[in-house]
Amino acid sequence: MQVYEAPLRDMKFVLHELHQDDGFGGLDALSEFTPDLVDAILEEAGRVAREVLLPLNRSGDEEGCKLENGVVRTPAGFKEAYDKFREGGWCALASDPKWGGQGLPETVNKMTEEMICAANVSFSLYPGLTHGATTAIEGFATEDLQSLYLPKLVEGSWSGTMCLTEAHCGTDLGMLRTKAVPQGDGSYKLTGSKIFISAGEHDLTENIVHLVLARIPDGPAGVKGISLFLVPKYMPKADGSVGPSNGVSCAAIEHKMGLKGSATCQLNFEESVGWLVGKPHKGMEAMFKMMNTERVSVGVQGLGLGEAAYQSAVYYAKDRLQGRSLSGVKAPDKPADPIIVHPDVRRMLMTMRAYNEGCRAVCGWVSRALDAEKHSTDPEVRQRASDFIALMTPVVKALFTDMGFESANLAVQVYGGHGYIRESGVEQYVRDARIAMIYEGTNGIQALDLVGRKLGAHMGRYLRSFFHPVSTFLEDNAEDEALAAIIPGLAQAFGALQLSTGTIAQKGLRDPEEAGAAATDYLRLLGLVAMGYCFAQAMKIAHAKVAAGDAEAEFYKAKIATASFFFDRILPQATACFLAIKSGKQSMMAMHADAF
Ligand SMILES: Cc1cc2nc3c(=O)[nH]c(=O)nc-3n(C[C@H](O)[C@H](O)[C@H](O)COP(=O)(O)OP(=O)(O)OC[C@H]3O[C@@H](n4cnc5c(N)ncnc54)[C@H](O)[C@@H]3O)c2cc1C
Repeated sequence: MQVYEAPLRDMKFVLHELHQDDGFGGLDALSEFTPDLVDAILEEAGRVAREVLLPLNRSGDEEGCKLENGVVRTPAGFKEAYDKFREGGWCALASDPKWGGQGLPETVNKMTEEMICAANVSFSLYPGLTHGATTAIEGFATEDLQSLYLPKLVEGSWSGTMCLTEAHCGTDLGMLRTKAVPQGDGSYKLTGSKIFISAGEHDLTENIVHLVLARIPDGPAGVKGISLFLVPKYMPKADGSVGPSNGVSCAAIEHKMGLKGSATCQLNFEESVGWLVGKPHKGMEAMFKMMNTERVSVGVQGLGLGEAAYQSAVYYAKDRLQGRSLSGVKAPDKPADPIIVHPDVRRMLMTMRAYNEGCRAVCGWVSRALDAEKHSTDPEVRQRASDFIALMTPVVKALFTDMGFESANLAVQVYGGHGYIRESGVEQYVRDARIAMIYEGTNGIQALDLVGRKLGAHMGRYLRSFFHPVSTFLEDNAEDEALAAIIPGLAQAFGALQLSTGTIAQKGLRDPEEAGAAATDYLRLLGLVAMGYCFAQAMKIAHAKVAAGDAEAEFYKAKIATASFFFDRILPQATACFLAIKSGKQSMMAMHADAF
C-alpha cells in the first residue's frame, strides 16, 4: 500500500541543525524566512502532498495519459490538482519575486520538491520542468522575452519543456537536425521532430513554452553549432493572452514502463516561430543552466521515491505476520510475529532509511550552496559555493537516483510476492524510479562529467570545496569519544577517495579510457564520503542532544542508530569502489566487440 507522510522532523533537522557551520554563512537576503515561517511552509507542503497529490498517484499510473485528436489528456484529477497547486502558489515558490515568485530559499524548495515527488512523481514533472525553463529564460533571454513569458510561467498558467532529444540523438546532441531559419526580424522558423519530451503536450495549462535546441544553417558542425530557442505552442498576444497556434503538434505519446501520469511526447515543429535564448551557436551554455537545475531536481526525485518506498515498506513490515523472531516470540497473541523482527527485513529497511537520510543531508548541504551562490555578499563564498555545486550536481543526480531505485526495489522485496502484484502499489515505485537514472543525462554520463570535467577544473579547485571541509572535520574530531567508532571508517573512505582521485588523474591523462572505466565507481565513492561526512556531523549533534537529556531524545537516538548502520553496513561499499577503480580498465576493455 502506498503511504506517505512528509518526513518533517528529519527535514527540520537538516534545515535548522545540521549545516550551521558549513562555511556558507548566514544569508541576510533570506532573513525574512524565519524558522517558524519555513516550518509552516513545509507542513503545508506535506499536507498538499498527502491530501492532493498522493491520492492521484496510483490512479494516474493505472489510467495514464491519452492522445485524442492531437490533444493530450492527463489522468482524471490531474487538472483539478494542478489548479489547486497553482492557486496555492506552489509553482512560484523558488522563483524570483520580480516575476511573481516567492523567492523561497533552495534549502526549503528542495524539500518541498522531495515531498511532491514522493507523493506523485508523474505530477511533479509538469511544474518541475516549468521551473527549469524559467531559469534558462531568466539567465539568457532578452528582456522582452522575459517580461512576456516569465510572469505566466512563474504563476504556472503556462508551462515549460526542454526539447533536446531526437530519434537518432540522445546523449550525443551534436548530431541533432532540427533547423532554425532566421527570418530577418529577429525571429526564426523551426522545423524538426523531437522525441521523449516530458510535458510536451497536456491539458493543464493555457500555453506551453518549449525551449528547443536547433541548428541555424551554416553554423559549425557538432555541439558548437547548436542554438537554443523559445517556441510557444500558441503565439502570445501583446497583452499576454493566448493567440494562434504556432505549428507545434504532438504526433504520439510514448508508452512507458512507468511515470505514466507524465505525458512524454513526440513533437513536430513545422515552421514554428521561435526566438533565440542566448547567443547563436551557444545554445548548450543556456541549456546547461536549465539542465543543471533539473539535474539536482531529478536527484531529488530519486530521494522522494526512496522515502515513499521506505514508508510503504515499513507500513507493511509492521503489519505482515510471518515466522517468529530469532530472539524469542514478540507477538504471543498473534499466530506469527510481524516481519519487522527479522534481521534480513531490518537490513532492507535500514538500508532504505540510511540512503534517504544520507541523501537528504547531502541535498541540504548542496542547497545551502545554491542559496549562498545566489545571495551571499562575499565573493569568495559565492565562488566556493559555485565550485561545490559544479562538483556535486552530477553526484546528486546519479547517486540519489541510483539509491532511490535501490530503495524501491528493496520495498518490493520487503513485500515479497505481494510486492510484485500491482495491488500493493510498491512495484510502481520501481517503474517510476527507473527513468530518473536515465533522463537528464544518464548516470554514466554524470559520472563522466564528474571525472572528465569537474575533477581537473581550475587545477582541482572544485574538489577542494569538498575535500577541505571533510579533512578539517576529521582532524577536529579525531579525539571525539562519541565519534570514536566511526571516524576511522570515514577517514579510510576519505583516504580511498583521495588515492582514487590521484589514480584517475594520473592514468586518465595518459589514457582517457582509464578515466571512463573508473567514473561510475568514483562517483559512488565520492557520494558515500559526502553521506558519511553528513552522518558524522549528525551523529555528533545527536550525541550531544541525548547527553543533555533533550526532550526529543528518541529522534536523536534514531539518528544515531541510522548513522551507525550507515557506517557499519553501507560505507564499506567505498572499499569495493576503491578496489574496482584501482583495477583499471584492462578486464573491462580486453574483449573484442565481436566476442560479445
Ligand atoms: C520518460 C522519458 C522522459 C524524457 N524527457 C525528456 C525531455 O523532457 N526532454 C528531452 O530532450 N529528452 C527527454 N528524454 C530523453 C532522455 O534525456 C534520453 O533518453 C537520455 O538523455 C539518453 O539518451 P538516449 O535514450 O538516446 O540513450 P543513448 O544516448 O543512446 O545512450 C545509450 C547508452 O549508452 C551510454 N552512452 C552514450 N554515449 C556515451 C558516451 N559517450 N560514453 C559513455 N556512455 C555513453 C548511455 O549512458 C546509455 O547507457 C526523456 C526520456 C524518457 C524515457
